[in-house]
Amino acid sequence: MIDIPSPESTAQAFEDRYGRRPDGVWSAPGRVNLIGEHTDYNDGLVFPFAIERRTWAAVGRRDDRLLTVHSGAMPEPAQASLDALSPDDFDGWSAYVFGVVWAMRERGVPLEGRTGFDIMLASDVPLGAGLSSSAAIECAVAIALNDEWDLGLTRRELIYICQLAENGAVGAPTGNMDQTASLMGEPGHGVLIDVRAETADPVALHFADEDLELLVIDTRVHHEHATGGYGERRRSCEEGAAAMGVPSLRDLAEADLARAAELLDDVTFRRVKHVVTENARVARTADVVQADGPRAIGDLLVQSHASMRDDFEISCAELDLAVETALANGAVGARMTGGGFGGAAIALVDAGRAEEVGEAVEAAFAEAGFTAPIVFVVNPAAGAHRDL
Ligand code: ADP
Ligand code: MG
Repeated sequence: MIDIPSPESTAQAFEDRYGRRPDGVWSAPGRVNLIGEHTDYNDGLVFPFAIERRTWAAVGRRDDRLLTVHSGAMPEPAQASLDALSPDDFDGWSAYVFGVVWAMRERGVPLEGRTGFDIMLASDVPLGAGLSSSAAIECAVAIALNDEWDLGLTRRELIYICQLAENGAVGAPTGNMDQTASLMGEPGHGVLIDVRAETADPVALHFADEDLELLVIDTRVHHEHATGGYGERRRSCEEGAAAMGVPSLRDLAEADLARAAELLDDVTFRRVKHVVTENARVARTADVVQADGPRAIGDLLVQSHASMRDDFEISCAELDLAVETALANGAVGARMTGGGFGGAAIALVDAGRAEEVGEAVEAAFAEAGFTAPIVFVVNPAAGAHRDL
């Protein structure tokens, strides 16, 4: 077991590594998506929340133009220069850090005359588990540099910068749900995001008031967003929209699905159907949670999972088993969350039963011969901010 990092421990790690105190410590959370999967890059609706698991960035100015970064999660540090900042030169994980600086420049932040930084990162967001450790690292670095360089960029602009880092420097063709949740999250609230309207509204979730907890079941099946199925699904969505004669799938409603069924091949139709019905489910979830409370959203979560399993085909045996077992053990609702092909499932459960549900899932995984899952509770938490 590693120690859970904190702002103080991250500052201490900075001091141990660089031999001076950092100027400050900033942090940004991972997120869980309550509902709305693969809708963000279709100009649609998503409803994630920021979680307590965060990435901390202790940052100190240098007097030259170098950027140095160490991460507690990685054996080797990385370095770049403000004078030669190119995604081609970014190696592995450091692209998430230097990519933010590159994206700032791409979006019009002049880098001339600025000093470089030393950065120490620490995180308790599991990497590659669908909880968006990638947005956490990007957003922590972005708000730190926004303060350190006194840029005065809005949170909205920081969302676009972090998304550009992920798309243009890392090369993962993702939307900006993760960055929006990480930068706009509030304790106790979900963030209802309308990607097309560029709005992100806090919606109270009342989990604690209703004695509910949200379990995350990390299947430990690894996904790689930069390659494989994610990009392929994204292309299917673009093709479906083009064949239907609309700029994006956001422009289709459930009433258009009959026409889509006639026009599209079976696979493309099912991809389109998932996105169109998922948008409707997100809107309904936000309405229902406000009108009737969180116990009333269970069926929407279950329908969302079925849609991803059967129509979008991004689930896997481990995710399906996690969802089925949670439901069979009394969960109010459950679904896979994140981009798919592994990662995590969520289950909304009575607080008193969380442990029992977790144990049932662990037992089912053992029985199936799957790697033991990691099960933990998450609460809707604060977005990115300065800690020290
Ligand atoms: P997810 O966002 O679901 O965790 P991604 O594949 O999008 O998965 O991002 C995970 C990658 O982000 C890691 O493989 C690593 O390259 C980088 N990363 C995230 N957090 C850190 C960290 N604290 N230190 C170094 N690299 C990190
Ligand atoms: Mg990610």
